[in-house]
Amino acid sequence: MIDTVVPSGEPWMGVVRRGQVFRIVDLEGNQAVDTLFYNADDTHEHYSAQNTIQAQGRIYLTTGSVLLSNRGRPMLRIEGDTCGRHDTLGGACSAESNTVRYALGKRHMHSCRDSFLLALAQHSGQSPGGMTKRDLPSNINFFMNVPVTPEGGLRFADGISAAGRHVELLALMDTLVLISNCPQLNNPCNAYNPTPIRVSVVTRESA
Ligand SMILES: [Zn+2]
Repeated sequence: MIDTVVPSGEPWMGVVRRGQVFRIVDLEGNQAVDTLFYNADDTHEHYSAQNTIQAQGRIYLTTGSVLLSNRGRPMLRIEGDTCGRHDTLGGACSAESNTVRYALGKRHMHSCRDSFLLALAQHSGQSPGGMTKRDLPSNINFFMNVPVTPEGGLRFADGISAAGRHVELLALMDTLVLISNCPQLNNPCNAYNPTPIRVSVVTRESA
């Protein structure tokens, strides 16, 4: 059974079985959790921001949101959410975005894309024909506050999450979860202070 604390700035990968409830806890508050979901039996099927946003007619995720795959199938449903809003548009920070958004000198800084690639490389070592950067679609940023401005721009705003807030997702298929517990230090998505999260599978009674 999954129950682990993911340190700030670290990736995590694991499989949640159909019918299980996967919980992510923002232990200390205002922590962005960059997350991707894959069909555990066929990782070419993965979370699709486009299909999910189009189907629900809203850009933020919260209780009741059904996460759809690139094949239009329901993967997970958000069943509990004490934060209230999760981002679908901001994407994962990378060496490139650190350079464009902040400064050339920020290029080397630890980023979510690098964490994703590290986790995929380690995972692929366990499964032949494994996953590569081609398997990184647009991700969800749990607990991250990215308001869309009236002009259609994005703003990385101070978080609305707080210590102990959580999100719970019911798996509708066997799901491979890939997380980068965001190490970003250059914008308020982590309150300039990346912190640990707890990931677990909870029984429905306690969910
Ligand atoms: Zn990040």
